[in-house]
Amino acid sequence: MVILGIIGGGQLGMMIAKAARGLQVKTHLFCTEDGSPASKFAAKTIVAQYDDKEALQEFAEGVDFITYEFENIPPETIRFLRLFKPVHPDEKLLEISQDRVVEKSYLNSLDIPTTRWAEVESRDDVVAAMQSWSVNECIIKTARLGYDGKGQFRVSLDSEQSFSNIPFGEQRLIAEDILAYDAEISMIIARDEYLNSYTYGPIRNEHDNGILRHSHYPAGQSEEINKKALGYIEKLANALDTRGVLTLEMFVMNDGRLLANEIAPRVHNSGHLTIEAAQVSQFENHVRCVCDMDVMDPAPIKKSKMENLLGREIRDTAHYMGKSNIFVHNYGKGEPRDGRKMGHVTTIEDVMDAPEEIKRSTL
Ligand code: ADP
Ligand code: MG
Repeated sequence: MVILGIIGGGQLGMMIAKAARGLQVKTHLFCTEDGSPASKFAAKTIVAQYDDKEALQEFAEGVDFITYEFENIPPETIRFLRLFKPVHPDEKLLEISQDRVVEKSYLNSLDIPTTRWAEVESRDDVVAAMQSWSVNECIIKTARLGYDGKGQFRVSLDSEQSFSNIPFGEQRLIAEDILAYDAEISMIIARDEYLNSYTYGPIRNEHDNGILRHSHYPAGQSEEINKKALGYIEKLANALDTRGVLTLEMFVMNDGRLLANEIAPRVHNSGHLTIEAAQVSQFENHVRCVCDMDVMDPAPIKKSKMENLLGREIRDTAHYMGKSNIFVHNYGKGEPRDGRKMGHVTTIEDVMDAPEEIKRSTL
């Protein structure tokens, strides 16, 4: 039996492990913390730190292939693991997506446009960037380790106070022009060892306070935007020569521009709806691609929406029960802290177009 090693044990790791089961692939986890959501679905979990070479070697020797479910793993760790077993995606993609300055430079080098940005080290640098963009507000983000809107600060030339918490001199920072976008979308690609690929999306995403709340498929964008989104993700996957699933987050502007925001070198929260809405989910295709199996066509993908259950919302899911087109996922995490992703709900909406009597029996 093939064994896939997954670094990271969060909900994405859990969904990869579940998909692996369906393919008769066993999973082993490498996590830095005990009791992770994925560990319930894995045959074995090693809990150790990323610089623990003995534990890393034990992990690698026990599996056939290795992948990861989140991007904040030291590239050194991946390089070390690759001495023993194939790791997909490799550390090149990790290095690019871990640092917003490197990431945006890389996207721009491929002629994939982004918002205007500048690396900044001081308040003066931020003011100079804002002046060159003729704006008096911008977003400052830590270049590394940000997620769910964490490590982001909106600053305004009208408010000295807004500059008070910026970690100048402590962390690498990027300033970004604030976009008045029409919509946020994501595009997910799965690419196998034979360089065949299939995409999911675009999916339209709604964020609240930097945290994803809802995703919708189809995204309801123009054919032109759909084509551009497909062009960007294919260009990126080819340039990176990546294996497995890769995601690009983008902003749709009202003048027809499509600007890339972030690369996720992995399965993505917006793709949760593919579990029920697609013939083959992003998770199954990821396992296929990294374990030397053929990528499969996920189409047709049903009209669907996904809602993240944050914090205590996980305690209030009874009203979803008994509906055959609604699927509740609980990640089994302990403490429902505010804003913490505890689960999600996917609704297949195709049924909305169905005759009244079918609608009544399913909704
Ligand atoms: P992360 O997802 O790693 O926290 P993002 O760069 O994706 O970081 O930012 C989170 C969210 O904040 C985005 O999905 C978007 O809603 C908003 N945001 C980020 N950058 C900009 C920007 N330049 N202009 C407007 N909104 C932004
Ligand atoms: Mg993001």
